[in-house]
Amino acid sequence: MLQDKNAIVTGSTSGIGLGIAAHLAKAGANVVLNGFGPPDEIELERKRLAETSGATVLFHGADMSDPSAIGELVKFAKRELGSVDIVVNNAGIQHVAPVEEFPIDKWEAIMAINLTSVFHTIRLSIEGMKSRGWGRVINLASAHGLVASPYKSAYVAAKHGIVGLTKTVALEAAEHGVTCNAICPGYVLTPLVEKQIPDTAKSRGITEDEVKRDVLLAAQATKQFVTIDQLGALAIYLCQDEASQITGTAIPVDGGWTAH
Ligand code: NAD
Repeated sequence: MLQDKNAIVTGSTSGIGLGIAAHLAKAGANVVLNGFGPPDEIELERKRLAETSGATVLFHGADMSDPSAIGELVKFAKRELGSVDIVVNNAGIQHVAPVEEFPIDKWEAIMAINLTSVFHTIRLSIEGMKSRGWGRVINLASAHGLVASPYKSAYVAAKHGIVGLTKTVALEAAEHGVTCNAICPGYVLTPLVEKQIPDTAKSRGITEDEVKRDVLLAAQATKQFVTIDQLGALAIYLCQDEASQITGTAIPVDGGWTAH
């Protein structure tokens, strides 16, 4: 289905990014994985994806907080695969603290990785997409790109920023066969979410089980976590011709959270 397409998925050594990369490879796209982690585990995952899909699967370890490294990542993809047709901006981190105690370095890291990196990958790949008349930019925002929660000032600001950037890029690229959309998941049980449970418990003075039930799933009307496969399937849909008129959107996949 996406046999002649080449994709970069940022932050794809874990969680949602890895899941979306697997769906893209299974649909036939060649994929450059990116992210942190033990090199042997990343290599195992890269090989497994390549073998099970038959697609070319490569890895580049660019730090998405570093604009020059992002430049190297995009250059690598163009050199090794020939083009960049699909960019999934997924790398993201979280930090939970009241705004008056929010560490400045954490604010800056979240802005750089969760928002500014999206600007850079788009900036460096959109011209090629426009010139070939086909492209897909898929930005992993969040339900927190649409609504806020306390203690997540940087994350909520960055994710709202992604939604604005998505709309702007969609308008600029609309007449060139390039769509740009944001996926806004509710809670998905990935390492990013599991890591923030102890901090949230501490900030709110409650147990970790109470964080899952009363904080994470409190607004998620289905009372279920979103799954990685549900997000992978949506990403594939957005890459198809049937989705060519879907652009500039922020699509909630949140069990009804933002319907409140
Ligand atoms: P995760 O922690 O499982 O994965 C994050 C990935 O980003 C990893 O591959 C990690 O190595 C990579 N990464 C982190 N910092 C990086 C850096 N500086 N440079 C390159 N790669 C870096 O997280 P996840 O839950 O899979 O989240 C993925 C995206 O989805 C994030 O943007 C997150 O904000 C968003 N999201 C997650 C949820 C959720 O409930 N898990 C909900 C809404 C949105």
